[in-house]
Amino acid sequence: MRAAIFDGPGKPLRLDEVPDPVAEPGEAILRVRACGICGSDIHATAEGVARVGGVLGHEVAGTIESLGPNPMGDWNVGDRVFVVSQFSCGTCGWCLVDQAHKCESIKFFGALGPGEPDGAYAELLRVRTNDLLRVPDGIDLGLAAMVEPLATGLMLIREAELSIGDRVVVMGGGPIGLATVLWARFFGARRIVMTEMVPHRLELGTAMGATDVVDISGDTDVKTEVEALLGQAPDAVIECVGRPGILSQAIDMVRHGGMVIAGGVCMQPDTLSHLDAYFKEPTVRFPATYTKAENQFVIEMIAAGRIDPTPMLSHRVTLDELPDAFEALRTPTDQCKVIVTP
Ligand SMILES: [Zn+2]
Ligand SMILES: [Zn+2]
Repeated sequence: MRAAIFDGPGKPLRLDEVPDPVAEPGEAILRVRACGICGSDIHATAEGVARVGGVLGHEVAGTIESLGPNPMGDWNVGDRVFVVSQFSCGTCGWCLVDQAHKCESIKFFGALGPGEPDGAYAELLRVRTNDLLRVPDGIDLGLAAMVEPLATGLMLIREAELSIGDRVVVMGGGPIGLATVLWARFFGARRIVMTEMVPHRLELGTAMGATDVVDISGDTDVKTEVEALLGQAPDAVIECVGRPGILSQAIDMVRHGGMVIAGGVCMQPDTLSHLDAYFKEPTVRFPATYTKAENQFVIEMIAAGRIDPTPMLSHRVTLDELPDAFEALRTPTDQCKVIVTP
């Protein structure tokens, strides 16, 4: 099969012919129909975190091409599926209660670290059948690939424990920030302010449900502007940027005793004023993983027409176009979520 290989930081992805994956017991091979390019892939290739020689890509929808022995669940060749982006055993106590991230043998496909299995920037993908979810016929598989970032946004809002009528700030208008805005609205926030510096992302923020957007490209005093819009400091601040200094800004912005969620995964060490945090007494959380049930919920909400993530899907590219599209995403332009359709 053809796949896009990561050769190391500073090198573009390289298309090559590699052996077809083979399904072991409990596994399946998917024909990849759609795979989203994720910000964490961009970060991980720049920082040298991604596995050299590996295939990235973990936001996947496809069809079952073949099944290994003893599949978990009632699966057939040709079924349309979304894959929860993990590689779970499916049989231990944690997996059985949908806490697969605590599974002792858990891996995450997508080559985002040493030892992690290959991902879906390829024609075929090896998955655990425990991680599959059925995609209803009415849902386009390109849209189904967006369930993963939407589930991440859902996880961030779940961790924020919003109360009805809370005032929420979402920092950053990339796909995760936009998904977070969508769920903040869905779960009853009073007002949702999204901060961002890229013009088309500010527009998307409004399209996805932000009641206000703040352009931080100039020398805006963000904290003052947010308080003026909300009439008080926000109850919850969810940062979806992942750069050094952002967490301090979020703690500075939130109301006394408010909730701060670190949603952007900052890959460099960060400094933080303990004294500022001490006087604020915020709750600060670093949520890492959604559950299979949350991914299932996202699929059901799309199928029911209760959420519409289509404005976020900005481009579709082929596997041949992937290396260039991937490099282009290192500097924000008019792209939001780019989907690879091998
Ligand atoms: Zn992702
Ligand atoms: Zn397990």
